[in-house]
Amino acid sequence: MALPNGPGDGGAWSVGDCHGRETAGIAGCRYAGRVNGEGFDNGAGAWSRCDNTPREVGMFEAIALDADDTLWENETFFRATEADFAALLSEHADPDLVNARLVATEMRNLSRYGFGIKGFMLSMVQTAIELTEGRIDGNSIGRIIEMGQDMLSHPVHLLEGVEQVLATLEGRHLLLITKGDLIDQERKIAASGLAGHFAGVEILADKTPASYASVLARRAIAPERFLMAGNSMKSDVMPVIRIGGTGVFIPHDLTWSLEHAEPQQDESYHELAAIAQLPVLIDELEGRS
Ligand SMILES: [Mg+2]
Repeated sequence: MALPNGPGDGGAWSVGDCHGRETAGIAGCRYAGRVNGEGFDNGAGAWSRCDNTPREVGMFEAIALDADDTLWENETFFRATEADFAALLSEHADPDLVNARLVATEMRNLSRYGFGIKGFMLSMVQTAIELTEGRIDGNSIGRIIEMGQDMLSHPVHLLEGVEQVLATLEGRHLLLITKGDLIDQERKIAASGLAGHFAGVEILADKTPASYASVLARRAIAPERFLMAGNSMKSDVMPVIRIGGTGVFIPHDLTWSLEHAEPQQDESYHELAAIAQLPVLIDELEGRS
């Protein structure tokens, strides 16, 4: 795919431009999120009951999607590698201890390495050295590096319903907003075959209120007319609702422990059981159903 057009604010790289926005009012319907217990499951798994406050009919300026575990499988490859890593160290520690130490090492290293597979590889090496008190042999270190390199070349497996949803949303201003290793994310975006659906791609160092605000400012998108959907409450939902946008939580069966978060009582979001339900939710929020 095309090279990024340069580093944006906060270490972000952006690809693509801004075009094709709709102009209208804002989507004013505030849905009761699961967090405040006022929503209900409509049978399709969506928390989608609107309260009785009047809502303005309008369009979102941009609809953004997360990538890992929203468009394609990701965490499943990490879990498989974690199991291989635990097996490699089985003579030294039981799998639960290996996993706990690995997660702790990743947390300590996040500020240095950022998110992604390369940092994960380094954290595995460090964990192996620490757990064996330096007795890990060179061949085992080599095996750990191979595990990471296998992940970096793994085929992209799209999640069910993704292609149909993107086809349904054709013509809307779609953004792909992800985080992690720049090269690995670009590889996956290219391999997914989905890049052509998106007006822009943002690969961020992290997903925070500030990094979302920076993206929206650079693209001249009003936060209240911005919708972001993804599998991480911490990265895809909470930062977006905290800058006044609409957050849609689409949980994946497997989510990294560091991506879990609890919204505050007054923070309302939408939850879908599957990405296939997203177009219907957007229609509802925009007052077209
Ligand atoms: Mg994700």
